[in-house]
Amino acid sequence: VWEQILDNMKEQLAASAFKWLNPVKPLSLTDSELVLGAQNAMSKEWITSHYLTILEDAVADVLGTPHKIVMKVIEAEKPEEPEAPAAPVRRPAKGENPDQGTLFQEGNGASAPAETNDMHIMAAGDSSSLNPKYTFDTFVTGSSNRFAHAAAMAVAESPGKVYNPFFMYGGVGLGKTHLMHAIGNRVLQNHPEMRVLYVSSEQFTNEIIRSIQEGTAEKFRQKYRNIDVLLVDDVQFLSGKTSTQEEFFHTFNTLHDAQKQIILSSDRPPREVERLEDRLRSRFEWGLITDIQAPDLETRIAILKNKAQLDHFSVPNDVMVYIASRIDSNIRELEGALTRVVAYASLIKRPVTTDLVAEALKDVFPNNKTKEVTMEVIQEIVASYFKIKIDDLHAKKRTRSIAYPRQIAMYLCRELTDTSLPQIGNFFGGRDHTTVLHACDKINKEKESDKKLGSILTELIERIQKM
Ligand code: ADP
Ligand code: MG
Repeated sequence: VWEQILDNMKEQLAASAFKWLNPVKPLSLTDSELVLGAQNAMSKEWITSHYLTILEDAVADVLGTPHKIVMKVIEAEKPEEPEAPAAPVRRPAKGENPDQGTLFQEGNGASAPAETNDMHIMAAGDSSSLNPKYTFDTFVTGSSNRFAHAAAMAVAESPGKVYNPFFMYGGVGLGKTHLMHAIGNRVLQNHPEMRVLYVSSEQFTNEIIRSIQEGTAEKFRQKYRNIDVLLVDDVQFLSGKTSTQEEFFHTFNTLHDAQKQIILSSDRPPREVERLEDRLRSRFEWGLITDIQAPDLETRIAILKNKAQLDHFSVPNDVMVYIASRIDSNIRELEGALTRVVAYASLIKRPVTTDLVAEALKDVFPNNKTKEVTMEVIQEIVASYFKIKIDDLHAKKRTRSIAYPRQIAMYLCRELTDTSLPQIGNFFGGRDHTTVLHACDKINKEKESDKKLGSILTELIERIQKM
């Protein structure tokens, strides 16, 4: 049955997406529940956040009834037995520093600079490997994240030299974790010999608590103080955790004194993290603090286009604009919506249109705004924005004060509705479709270099979508 489900999903998913699912093993199946095993927590999380809906749909398709899907992590061979060095990377001898490009991969026990008897510390968490998909190349920039992105690049190019610590904060799903992985990936690309460790704050806390309970604090210290780039995600979760903060304070000092790079993220700036020791807070403020804001509409559209390209989805422009204008605060949700729409369309074997999106995402859109954008609305808003008459858009006039808004209006009709070039031409005073094509190309080109035009378009689209 699992084979069938996989086949079913294979049809609708790009190869890149499918490779996440292929290694998944079915564990058990009842009338109402399917338990699946992922290889590690990273892949479990990835699948849960990206493919659960598609999985559920595929399962319902194959089995005929909806099933709850439960994801578990299959326990890898844990390097617990003293003489079982299953690690693929050479493990350094006691007291020796690892000298090879060492990405500490929690969970599979690989490449940890430690003796076998404390390998459980190294295996304490299992999601700290860098996600190769989170790179600078796949990160779309816009005014909301440009500064954070530039600073992250600078840090990645000169770890320990420019901003230390580097502290990023911003709301959920805005790209903090992505940027952290991107820094780690870039550092390893430039310096394969460097030791880069990414940990979530929970994982860091768990390791500390364990090392205290089991009396292996010294090993913990060695591990954490032997790192070139330490990335700690979501430090707001250290709030109120006194012993973790205490240990982190010392780790921080050792690394910072040795000019090793520390990178932190949080959902809020250091001064707003509650129950955080003052000495830690002040250290978090030593280096550079940048925020990431919610992306504007233009950036959201760009993110969707980027994702569609990466995942080989073919989705019309108006659909992306439609989704982007309705999901405005969380990029994970934005991307999830696109994936869901594509899966939905292929399941019910219909093309991806704005109507279909409205149907597929009816639970996602807050106020169920499904009204379609019409060319009338576009003309009305463009005309009022440029303070010209709607009739001027139809007329033969070619003065720039009229022709330019007209071209913009044509471009928007092309982007926001699914009318054809001849239909648009017709609607604009019986013009030829080549005129429309010319207008669209022109605006498309100009908006790349002309910042002002870019913001005019964003403003117009926002107004149109609000109608
Ligand atoms: P955070 O850690 O801030 O909660 P994430 O880094 O986990 O957010 O981002 C959520 C999702 O959105 C990820 O899949 C990430 O790749 C994607 N994402 C966020 N920002 C961008 C961006 N600027 N360009 C492309 N993808 C992005
Ligand atoms: Mg995150």
